[in-house]
Amino acid sequence: MPELPEVELVVQSLNNLVSRRKIIVAELLRERLAPFNSPTEFAERLQNSTINHVRRRGKHILFDLDNGNTLIAHLRMSGRFMLLPVERENPKYTHAAFFFADETRLVFQDQRHFGFMRIVETARLHETKELKSLAPEPFGEDFTPTYFRDVLKTSKKSLKEFLLDQTKVTGLGNIYASEAMFLAKVNPQTPANEVPTKKANVLFDKILEVLHESIAHGSTLNVNPENIDGSYYGGGFSHGWRVYDRENESCVNCEKPIARLKQGGRSTYFCPKCQK
Ligand SMILES: [Zn+2]
Repeated sequence: MPELPEVELVVQSLNNLVSRRKIIVAELLRERLAPFNSPTEFAERLQNSTINHVRRRGKHILFDLDNGNTLIAHLRMSGRFMLLPVERENPKYTHAAFFFADETRLVFQDQRHFGFMRIVETARLHETKELKSLAPEPFGEDFTPTYFRDVLKTSKKSLKEFLLDQTKVTGLGNIYASEAMFLAKVNPQTPANEVPTKKANVLFDKILEVLHESIAHGSTLNVNPENIDGSYYGGGFSHGWRVYDRENESCVNCEKPIARLKQGGRSTYFCPKCQK
């Protein structure tokens, strides 16, 4: 599943490619992709609208349209967008297609069928179920050290599980949570409300650092317009991980082996010596 930096790359690519394009016809080919909009409503609310811009809220991709609607899209496990020329057939597992005035079309393809779309009024976006419980964006002005320290105090969950809770901190997944805790030298099993203030401040900085670092890496990648998905990081950037997916390899600080433990059903990687 793509994490925030990967979705950010998808959003920037889509914004460059499709903003200011006019949708002539929209087709919902798999009804369950957009469970809150019928195929007829889906088509009607998108037809003859121009995409003002594409932006992100958490891992939701938002297409703001000039007719007062926003199309929310979530890639989940395997969703991808493909900008295709007119002569190209829809690929297998095409679940939605958006035909532009210039005869190109944007296709949403999803082999594993977990993708999600919903059309809502832009003015009511903040009260939409998918978005309203999300914590502040890590790069937004509401995500401050004070916010972070205060919200840590509200939870007795382990720090790792706390960091994955999108209602507390938006944008951290399994990879970047492990990386940030390693850089902050804090143990992933510490209850969130017992993280000392000093450590909380360091962790706050490290969360931003790992996300910035990864987004900067993404900006160096060439995204193929016919394959806009969350997979661009898999090869290159994995070499930059300090603890994630490095069980039994030596710690970059102390050379002791990296350990792995299960928390909330998911693997956490950490250095037992550096993160006491
Ligand atoms: Zn170490």
